[in-house]
Amino acid sequence: MYQNMIFYIIFFVSGAIIGSFLNCLVWRLKNNKNFITARSQCPFCERKLAWFENIPVFSFLFLKGKCRTCREKIPIFYFLAEIFTGLLFVLVFWFNQSDLFFYKIFFELFVISFLIFVFIYDALYKEILPGAVWVAVLIVTAYHWLVKDLTIESFVYGIILGFSFFAFQYFVSKGRWIGGGDVRLGLFIGALLGWEKTVLAVLVAYWLGAFFGLFLLFSKKGKMNSEVPLGTFLTAGTLFAMYFGEYIINWYFKFLN
Ligand SMILES: [Zn+2]
Repeated sequence: MYQNMIFYIIFFVSGAIIGSFLNCLVWRLKNNKNFITARSQCPFCERKLAWFENIPVFSFLFLKGKCRTCREKIPIFYFLAEIFTGLLFVLVFWFNQSDLFFYKIFFELFVISFLIFVFIYDALYKEILPGAVWVAVLIVTAYHWLVKDLTIESFVYGIILGFSFFAFQYFVSKGRWIGGGDVRLGLFIGALLGWEKTVLAVLVAYWLGAFFGLFLLFSKKGKMNSEVPLGTFLTAGTLFAMYFGEYIINWYFKFLN
């Protein structure tokens, strides 16, 4: 237990650091900065940040959420993204602690980092970067090919299903309901999860989207037609299906019999 405690802390801290990195990465890609060599700066006054303003989670608390020079408020979204990434990394350890396969843990950490990246980018800018999705599709395909944790049928049907489900809506609505980014993300989800869990991921995403839409409607924060980026809900649905898909699908088929 005590030993696990240390692991939980290590995973949380690594997650918070990655979350902080993903925040920067999103901002740098959006603003056309070099995402490796550029130094972190305040997005408002553009002052370069000192090392102590760059510590995940702590800097935000220590600076009370404001830039030291221009006093602009740093959006709490960035802070929450760091904490949330840390918590998800802890969850990866928790799910894998009975048998520690390092390649599996690294793979899941990568997938989670990618999903958080898509979530942040889509939530802030309503856009999913094609290049990022293709890289992730390649890595996921290579992983399945090496580890063989998915049947070829499930993988291929997953890609066809994930792609065509969104491509259909894209063409029918001429890109008004969903964007091309959602179609590519659908393909990624199919490749990652296989067809069975892809169905679940999409269902969960649409339920979440519907709840969120109702919530906005009743809290009168959004108008009837206020746009909610589908990609953010898809990432949440994918995470859910990745960890709970097995149980739910087994339970469902037992229920049918
Ligand atoms: Zn500033």
